[in-house]
Amino acid sequence: MATEGADALVLGAGIAGCALAYHLARGKFGRVVVLDPATPAAGATGRAAGIVTEQLWDRWDVATVRESREEYARLAVRHDPSACRVNGFLRWTSRADVVPLLAAATERLHDWGVEVEELSAAEVARRLPWARCDDLLGASFAPGDAIVAPTRLAELYLREARSLGVEFELGLSEVRLEGSQGRWQVTAGQRSWRAPCVVVAAGAWSKRLLASAGAPIPLTPYRTQAALLRPGGPAVPEFPSFHDIDLDVYARPEEAGRVLVGDGTDAVEADPTSFVTGGDERFVTHLAESFASRLPGWKDAEMLRAWAGVCVATPDRHPLIGPVPGAPGLCALTGFNGFGVMRAGGAAARLAQAIGEPEREADLLGPTLPGRFSRPYPAFPPKPGFTLEAGDEPRY
Ligand SMILES: Cc1cc2nc3c(=O)[nH]c(=O)nc-3n(C[C@H](O)[C@H](O)[C@H](O)COP(=O)(O)OP(=O)(O)OC[C@H]3O[C@@H](n4cnc5c(N)ncnc54)[C@H](O)[C@@H]3O)c2cc1C
Repeated sequence: MATEGADALVLGAGIAGCALAYHLARGKFGRVVVLDPATPAAGATGRAAGIVTEQLWDRWDVATVRESREEYARLAVRHDPSACRVNGFLRWTSRADVVPLLAAATERLHDWGVEVEELSAAEVARRLPWARCDDLLGASFAPGDAIVAPTRLAELYLREARSLGVEFELGLSEVRLEGSQGRWQVTAGQRSWRAPCVVVAAGAWSKRLLASAGAPIPLTPYRTQAALLRPGGPAVPEFPSFHDIDLDVYARPEEAGRVLVGDGTDAVEADPTSFVTGGDERFVTHLAESFASRLPGWKDAEMLRAWAGVCVATPDRHPLIGPVPGAPGLCALTGFNGFGVMRAGGAAARLAQAIGEPEREADLLGPTLPGRFSRPYPAFPPKPGFTLEAGDEPRY
């Protein structure tokens, strides 16, 4: 079997791998090859809601998501305006014990330069006339937040990367990673590739891929759900995406007056090769109960489709981006804890700059560097989702 040489190999053609390929090709890398057993965005990317918000939990995240959003907006202007549009992101609570946490989060975001304002219940009701808002005690709104079309963005990165010379090897039979001491080889059927730099951007599959190559990192894949609805009554006008903190339900506007809602997250490990791909009864019931109590205008909405995807969690909720400890030449770009669409563009740009420049890693990748954990990695449950917590103070 002849082995092909490359300067960098990227394993995975989700939004993270496609964005990375684009940034590697714009940077110092010559021959870049992306390998995937499926089609682009066949993983979590093709199932994501596409909410992009700066209402996050540490400075690194806010900066990275802002960089992503700016890049997505540029791609959209260049190729497809529907791929990214600003509609704002709103979150609220009716619980007195949560109000101080929301207020503290809003103040922290101000300190980090995020444009976010507190809204009264009446102001929320004006933006979402079909919601019941009379008991809301706190709400925060970031008007610059956006919604994107995740599959479309992955395709646009792929297109741009290809025009810069990146090769995409898709639909391969089982893609495996082998090697040691900086000599990594990727095989798929009768073909193989070797490069001094290999990046695993294989989403929920990254855990098994890296472990089988003897280079594990702490990841827990988990299943999460979303659904597409068509509310009855008059057409739903454009509205900000929102997250009900108390019910843990989010929603965003979709084309043709439809609405995308989520978050039926299972807090147990899932297998990305065999999981229930449809929405389950518990999720659908939770949506129905949430609509009855908080979104009465959507109570009779027609459910068009419900589905699940597998995301990947880390022990501290920060992603895992950068060199894999004890495995020279191998990097990870994963562990997005359910927020990989909003982070991918910025995270990929940062990783592309950091590769081969260890003195810049801490600045660019900060709290996401995989070396923050040491082996052996104990099992841990996923705890993803929109959080009001502050991330740890940066240790870099
Ligand atoms: C229902 C739902 C709603 C979501 N909503 C949002 C949201 O609103 N905002 C947000 O930011 N994020 C959201 N997410 C999370 C987001 O989808 C993910 O974080 C993001 O898509 C991860 O992208 P990725 O490229 O890392 O992984 P993936 O998109 O999963 O791509 C991984 C790729 O690796 C490939 N692969 C598998 N095995 C191998 C192998 N051996 N070698 C090479 N490649 C391999 C797969 O075929 C796949 O193409 C949501 C996810 C779900 C499921």
